[in-house]
Amino acid sequence: MKKLPRARTRSEDEPEFEKEIWQPSWQCFCCHDSGIVQPHLAAIAIDGYDYNQDKLPRCQNPGCRAGSYWDSESITDSVDYRLNPAICQELDSIEREGWRQTTKRKFIDLKALSGQLAMPGTKERTQNDDREVQQRKAEIESISSERWESMRKAYLGGDSE
Ligand SMILES: [Zn+2]
Repeated sequence: MKKLPRARTRSEDEPEFEKEIWQPSWQCFCCHDSGIVQPHLAAIAIDGYDYNQDKLPRCQNPGCRAGSYWDSESITDSVDYRLNPAICQELDSIEREGWRQTTKRKFIDLKALSGQLAMPGTKERTQNDDREVQQRKAEIESISSERWESMRKAYLGGDSE
């Protein structure tokens, strides 16, 4: 049977793996791009803050535009503007640090786990790697001579001889 090429999930060996899974994509860690400061962060800045009863603390982190969603006149009565840029900036860095710690912990867990998983499968892994090399080679070999020629021209500036 002709084998299909591998359909790889992201490998834990790739440096980008950890970053993509454990690094959130928020621009603003103060409000997670929602415009409203995250309740656990608001509780740091506001004494006895209660998410269910208190006004919504609008994010004023410098560079964060999400807060402007909450500036419409109809709801300004429900918005708390007291968390100024300096406070939001600090909350942002607290949250970032929290995520860094979480990431580090998860990374250690995952490394240990993948170490355990790799042990019995080491042989198979090597075969897979070989197969990938073969696959790459086949891809390169399947590029037609015309294509090579046009690539060569592109790189060398047009003159074929
Ligand atoms: Zn924000």
